[in-house]
Amino acid sequence: MKENQKPKDKKQKKPRDFESIKTILLLIVLIICIVSSIAILYFSDKENEERELAYTELISAINAGEIEKIEMTTGSANIKVIMHGEGEEKDREKMVLVPSIQAFMELVQDKVDKEGKEIELKQKPINPVLRISDTLFSLLPTILLIVLMIMVFKMQGLGGDSGKVYGGEDGSKSPDVRFGDIAGLDEEKGELIEIVDFLKKPQEYQEMGAKIPRGILLYGKPGTGKTLIARAIAGEAGVPFISMSGSEFIEMFAGLGASRVRKLFEKAKKMSPCIIFIDEIDAIGSRRTSNSGSETENNQTLNQLLVEMDGFDTEETIIVLAATNRPEMLDKALLRPGRFDRQITIPAPDLLGREAILKLHSKNKKFADDVDFKTIAGDTAGFTGAELANVLNEAAIIATRSKHKQISNEDIENAVKKITVGLEKTNRVISDKDKKLTAYHEAGHAVVSKFLPTQTEVKEVSIIPRGLAGGYTMYKTNEDKFYVSRTELLEKMVALMGGRAAEKIALNEISTGASNDIEVATGIAKDMLTIYGMDDTLGPISLKVDDPYEIQIFGDKVIDQVGNQIQVLIDNAYETAQKILLNNMDILDKVAQTLLEKEKITSEEFEEFFRV
Ligand code: ATP
Repeated sequence: MKENQKPKDKKQKKPRDFESIKTILLLIVLIICIVSSIAILYFSDKENEERELAYTELISAINAGEIEKIEMTTGSANIKVIMHGEGEEKDREKMVLVPSIQAFMELVQDKVDKEGKEIELKQKPINPVLRISDTLFSLLPTILLIVLMIMVFKMQGLGGDSGKVYGGEDGSKSPDVRFGDIAGLDEEKGELIEIVDFLKKPQEYQEMGAKIPRGILLYGKPGTGKTLIARAIAGEAGVPFISMSGSEFIEMFAGLGASRVRKLFEKAKKMSPCIIFIDEIDAIGSRRTSNSGSETENNQTLNQLLVEMDGFDTEETIIVLAATNRPEMLDKALLRPGRFDRQITIPAPDLLGREAILKLHSKNKKFADDVDFKTIAGDTAGFTGAELANVLNEAAIIATRSKHKQISNEDIENAVKKITVGLEKTNRVISDKDKKLTAYHEAGHAVVSKFLPTQTEVKEVSIIPRGLAGGYTMYKTNEDKFYVSRTELLEKMVALMGGRAAEKIALNEISTGASNDIEVATGIAKDMLTIYGMDDTLGPISLKVDDPYEIQIFGDKVIDQVGNQIQVLIDNAYETAQKILLNNMDILDKVAQTLLEKEKITSEEFEEFFRV
């Protein structure tokens, strides 16, 4: 059961269908090569075995008069003998390796077969074609393996893909995205406008002796528009945009990643002035480790990138833009002067930004008159540009499926819920017991938060399952906050504990439905202690609990203390939630009963329970 409605910070994976097709093809070729190599070896061995005759057997066969004909090839100790008997001639052929041709010739002289005829002796010159084809046949498995290796190398990109160049749809060399296609982010655009100027008139800057920036790092969570901005810079400047993702440099074979980096920059030099865009740079740019095992390959790739960034000529106007949502992971060497020395944070849009993005993406869509983008912007705090674009797209799909003529406000609200909590599952059969548990759980969240001054008003409470949640309580978002206070975090934990506390108090039972609430609350407690330095006993310290080095610095005592204090914070939150509910049992019962009857309660209906 979800307690809040923040969109999940999911990294939006780009489709990698092409990659999977490549891998499947590679596997098929590999299997074909292995199977055919084994088959060739097996059958040629088997055939040879069937056709071979030992020298002693040959002598006995000659003495018994069973040999009709002998064929010899000049210079070869392998002779062919044709035996008397039934069947086709080739069934009677046998190969024999003779120790000495000379001795054999003497032995066979004047020998007759069982019909009294002299054994026919045939001397053949070497057939060069047969010789070559024999050699080729025996080399076939090796040839197949070499072909396979070449294919693997090609597919892995040795000399292959070195960044895709994106031009405009009209065939122009630069993308047709402009700053006007980016809503909000005015300050960031302002900071980047000079890059456009550098790219447009590099000579003017060079004549003045100004150094053109080489690398700009864009920090921000997925979907905030980093790629869009990079493309818009290229579009505004009218220069080519060469794009590659950090993960594309990660290869199976050592040295290939570095070779791709080299090729990417070679390509850019030919296209200068231009922009190189490296998305997810953390995939190759994370802190270098000791040169061991698989990490060596990554280190080589990163080193090559550093070398390339240092190696530009002043005349080459290439600007490298890179994007990451994990800046803390990056190797410090990447951020030194001359490399990515400019860093720009691309934040999730604020209220005005969200409204602007919604309006921009509303073009080409039909909306009913009741749709108010300002209100939607208010309800979608924390959403990124990509998520907002997705909301409107989902709303259009919902409207079409519901046979609406235009997209209504309700369609948009449903799209927001679909994105935050998941799809409504009205058909799911739920037992009365589970329904009651969910009703008390959600009522618990809603009632507890009503008594917490820092928590926002309840917007909707529902026991209709959505996504993985059995029910949900949605809160209004009325302002974009820059900072969050300690009290607010503590009260948020209390609201989260409201669900579990209500289950226990009203039904004397606890369920797995509270798992997400517990996870979020524990995360808040951990962050309060180790990131925000909000604990009185520990003081304002920062402690990266995932970093073994930091754990070593602080020692076990501090780590134990963190564990204990997390426990204290959670226990306090649970106790407070319980107290609030015990003092307001009548309201808790009423809210839960109404939920069981109506399944959903609006904000106004919820407020009614508190009017005396
Ligand atoms: P990732 O880190 O996943 O690559 P990103 O930060 O590069 O994400 P983009 O790919 O640039 O995000 O954004 C995805 C889409 O979201 C854009 O194509 C655009 O439709 C929309 N979008 C994001 N931000 C904005 C914005 N400020 N204005 C208009 N559209 C936006």
